[in-house]
Amino acid sequence: MLIQATPPAIQDAAQALRRGELVAFPTETVYGLGADACNGMAVAKIYALKNRPLHNPLIIHVASVEDAEKIGQFDSRAQTLASSLWPGPLTLIVPKRNGNGIAANATAGLDTVALRIPAHPVAAALIQSAGTPLAAPSANPSGTLSPTRPEHVARHLAAQGLIVLSGGATTIGLESTVLDLTTHPARILRPGAIGLDELEPLIGPVQMADGTEAIKAPGQLKRHYATRTPLRLNAVDVKHGEAFLGFGNVGFIGVESVGFVRDMDHHLWRNLSPEGDLHAAATHLYAMLDELDQSGAPTIAVQAIPMQGLGIAINDRLSRAAVPK
Ligand code: AMP
Ligand code: MG
Repeated sequence: MLIQATPPAIQDAAQALRRGELVAFPTETVYGLGADACNGMAVAKIYALKNRPLHNPLIIHVASVEDAEKIGQFDSRAQTLASSLWPGPLTLIVPKRNGNGIAANATAGLDTVALRIPAHPVAAALIQSAGTPLAAPSANPSGTLSPTRPEHVARHLAAQGLIVLSGGATTIGLESTVLDLTTHPARILRPGAIGLDELEPLIGPVQMADGTEAIKAPGQLKRHYATRTPLRLNAVDVKHGEAFLGFGNVGFIGVESVGFVRDMDHHLWRNLSPEGDLHAAATHLYAMLDELDQSGAPTIAVQAIPMQGLGIAINDRLSRAAVPK
């Protein structure tokens, strides 16, 4: 059920979480599917509903740095990043503290834990009211597009009676940056809105683990964030009948501009950002892919996205989505 995220609705949702039920809620990145991270039965429901492999650990969402430090061991790098960049779209992987109360299945039995304080006011209020850390992956079936609007959650995650707190479209539109702080130097396991440009001035050199390698070797990528319709990346033309996802100047396809509207004569065409703005593109990425996925076109041609700034995270998701089934 889609429920407007008013303060009383958030209270009710928090109570449901305390009873061991799941609640979907908005964050600034994508919609999350939350459970009380200290309740193994509740956490198990997340894996079951998403059909998520049990060995894929969940991010634990907390309300304060103090709460985070009760769950994980923070070295000086973690402390610096937490105080500078939280709340925000950054997940830190740190060694787990013994007896931290987090259910073992939430971390897939690892001795490390992924922690984040989300910036979205609804997420913050929900974690506060629940009074417990929330294990929360994206609110979609495992491997499919992440939800950036409440309707996506309701449409793709069929669960009777699931509370979906509705807070409009998410602003960032891409999952959080995942930074592994258990190594020196730290490594970005998943690129996101917070990039090397923000991290390195704070903690020194940071390696890219996935993102760059991913682009170099698309054949070895694990399929994830995927549409049902095959993607054709770095398209320099649009074939007859194809859907098209553009970025910036789309003059090469023979029309002056593609806006956010259905094209009259062709299959569905969309432009992530006619102005060529990577932030706008990230915000629109999953919703537009979702629309094009439903257009019935045999393939979706995707124009090249520059490999800089947020473009690194966008290309990471696109290249994983393009891995054949
Ligand atoms: P999702 O919940 O789908 O947004 O994905 C969370 C990401 O964080 C996945 O790529 C996980 O593999 C990663 N992750 C979560 N916990 C850990 C951990 N303890 N160690 C390494 N990666 C983790
Ligand atoms: Mg996910």
